Amino acid sequence: MTALKSKLSQDVFERFIKPLKPLSIMDFEITLSVPVQIDFDQLSKAYRGLIELSYCEANGREITIKFERPSINQAQLASPAFPFSSIPTMQINPAYTFDEFVVGSNSQFAFSASMAVAKDLGGTKFNPLLIYGGVGLGKTHLLQAIGNYIASSGAGKVVRYVTSEMFYREFVESIQHNKITELSNYYRNEVDLLLMDDVQFLRGKDRTQEEFFHIFNALHQLHKQIVLTSDSPPNKLEGLEDRLISRFQWGLFVDVQPPDRETREAILQHKAQKLNLFISQEILSFLAESIEDNVRQLEGAIRQLLMQSSLKKSDITLDLAREIVARTAPSRRSRTIGADDITDIVSQYFTVEVNKILERGRGTKEVAQARQVAMFLMKELTSASLKTIGKRFGDRDHSTVVHAVKTIERAMEEDNSFKNSVDGIISQLNKR
Ligand code: ADP
Ligand code: MG
Repeated sequence: MTALKSKLSQDVFERFIKPLKPLSIMDFEITLSVPVQIDFDQLSKAYRGLIELSYCEANGREITIKFERPSINQAQLASPAFPFSSIPTMQINPAYTFDEFVVGSNSQFAFSASMAVAKDLGGTKFNPLLIYGGVGLGKTHLLQAIGNYIASSGAGKVVRYVTSEMFYREFVESIQHNKITELSNYYRNEVDLLLMDDVQFLRGKDRTQEEFFHIFNALHQLHKQIVLTSDSPPNKLEGLEDRLISRFQWGLFVDVQPPDRETREAILQHKAQKLNLFISQEILSFLAESIEDNVRQLEGAIRQLLMQSSLKKSDITLDLAREIVARTAPSRRSRTIGADDITDIVSQYFTVEVNKILERGRGTKEVAQARQVAMFLMKELTSASLKTIGKRFGDRDHSTVVHAVKTIERAMEEDNSFKNSVDGIISQLNKR
């Protein structure tokens, strides 16, 4: 250490060398623990040789230096509970780190903002940071990555992760036991970083929102960081008090979008590598193309592949991948059924021409029924709105569509053979 100190500037020594802690010392190898705030690559490239040399000079022995991130102590990850609560605290998942997050153009901004907040806790203007977007797109992952980063920085900051649901239950319990002041003091005085997941579930819970509002203000005033996730941007968070929403807009809100094709492939590759699973390029492409909705499903497919291939003791084949896609992403089927597919098959089934189905005129009884079935199927199997469906079928009103759907539903209840016909059409559509 002293030998090194003389070789380096004070600043470099303080920043890069002093924070290193020996994890193990063996005859020829010393492993040093590197806190997360130090750039691994930079350290290895710039200072490894120098450390080895200095050690050799001081001790007359050649050694190899290895660097390692400190293993995260589970105790550090557990959000400390509000001490009077019986509600179990939720642990942050240690696997949800920045390193494990595959960045694509869909998440670039959210990732950078989260990273900025973690690197300069309480120092950025992004307070609060709100990450919003659909399910399974990595919101919780990013939120907890900030928590993991802070917990493993060794700075002794208190990270509190709650879902809004947990916060609500805590609040209800503290009312029951006359502990509201304690709850409020706990959040205001003990917590350095508040991570609240799925804030939309505070919807309609007025008193909880009020309490949260006060806690929010107190933390904000103390420059304590608050990070939130939600399913929609602040101005679309219905059922939340205006003053709370306006607080959310003080900082920065960023969205995560579904990953594009390239990012999906990169995510699949990353997840497979983690599991030491070799998947051919062809299969990776197939999966990336077939599973479009969210990252959770991509992850599920990889896990299924691993499980199935080890169960069957077989290699990972395209057929296996097909099977798994059919199971993990059945919603894909219904989403890819288009309006044209429906009119096409309905027309074949009822032997009525497609344009008759789509035309404005009433037509025969058969035509009317085929049209109603087609409307019903579009409502059931696609994401088209009633208005869109009406437009498509000869610019009809949405109430006509509602009527058609009801008529078909009733007919299916009353007439079993009719129900079989409709089911037959659906299964044909699913085979497409
Ligand atoms: P959300 O909270 O938005 O519903 P999650 O954060 O729970 O989604 O993500 C679902 C799963 O997908 C998690 O296991 C997470 O680790 C993984 N995941 C999501 N986005 C990514 C990504 N960009 N890179 C790697 N894994 C991801
Ligand atoms: Mg989540």
